[in-house]
Amino acid sequence: MKIIDMYRSNQPVLSLEIFPPRPDYPLETIFTTVEQLTRLHPGFISVTYGAGGSNRDRTVEIAARIKKDYKIESLAHLTCVCHTRQEISDILDSLQQENIQNIMALRGDIPENDPSFNINQQEYRYAFELINDARGKADFGIAAAAHPEGHPECRKLSEDLANLKHKVDCGVDFLITQLFFDNRIYYDFADRAIAKGISCPIIPGIMPVLNAKQIKRIIYLCGASIPSRLLNLVDRYESIPSDMEKAGIEYASRQVEELLDEGVPGIHLYTMNKPDQITQIVNNVGIGR
Ligand SMILES: Cc1cc2nc3c(=O)[nH]c(=O)nc-3n(C[C@H](O)[C@H](O)[C@H](O)COP(=O)(O)OP(=O)(O)OC[C@H]3O[C@@H](n4cnc5c(N)ncnc54)[C@H](O)[C@@H]3O)c2cc1C
Repeated sequence: MKIIDMYRSNQPVLSLEIFPPRPDYPLETIFTTVEQLTRLHPGFISVTYGAGGSNRDRTVEIAARIKKDYKIESLAHLTCVCHTRQEISDILDSLQQENIQNIMALRGDIPENDPSFNINQQEYRYAFELINDARGKADFGIAAAAHPEGHPECRKLSEDLANLKHKVDCGVDFLITQLFFDNRIYYDFADRAIAKGISCPIIPGIMPVLNAKQIKRIIYLCGASIPSRLLNLVDRYESIPSDMEKAGIEYASRQVEELLDEGVPGIHLYTMNKPDQITQIVNNVGIGR
């Protein structure tokens, strides 16, 4: 089934993002998490892809088993930077062979600690090139990333939005946003996207903050701004991990609740492979098919 068809119903769609276990961990460990997450009745589960291809086979295999063994639609992430066109073509072939109909087409981050890396020498420089190739290859459902606070590499929000519009016009069915902690950021972004002519569903991506260390990493990785209300929680609870976790679950639940009240088409939860905490959020807000 194409995921875009789920967003045509009147019910908000719950989607859950997981990541494959590290290559030195048994693959099976992820299916304990999947098992727990399926009890939340998600519309689909998305599986991230290690940039540079470190988890390439695992992403495909996990996405395939979610469909086959759990009868839940899966969304396989795929990044194109550092891949050749031939490699991407091979991966798209294996996705098709596994009957995976939906992909999240991404560029991927520029490799760190490699001063010789030159994006202009890459066969793929942007996600839209992957979208063009996937569209040319087969009838995939295609999702892509949106960055409500602007992608860290792009200095002007207006340019980033123009690039997003171009990407969507290449054949994107729906967008999933980078995480954010203040819903006004999402509402402003959705308004600007609509004004720019982007008419596909824009699904808010929510990540609960479960420990203080995570905040620093989030700022470093995607530059999301942290509202003072959240910073105050971290200040108050960082030395008591169980209270910090409770406060983070509560904060994310209120964010999701408010978004649902505003009528968003779905909620995408970055689960961080933590099914217990995600279950609490889902139970708090009562979303799921
Ligand atoms: C929901 C979600 C899921 C993700 N999953 C993964 C994952 O599984 N694995 C992983 O490694 N990473 C993942 N990422 C991170 C993502 O790979 C990075 O944010 C990456 O740096 C950008 O990817 P993109 O697809 O948004 O790139 P693009 O859309 O290509 O944009 C990248 C930059 O290029 C600019 N740009 C785009 N098009 C043009 C153009 N035509 N001309 C000039 N500039 C242009 C944009 O403004 C932006 O600054 C995810 C991000 C999100 C939001």
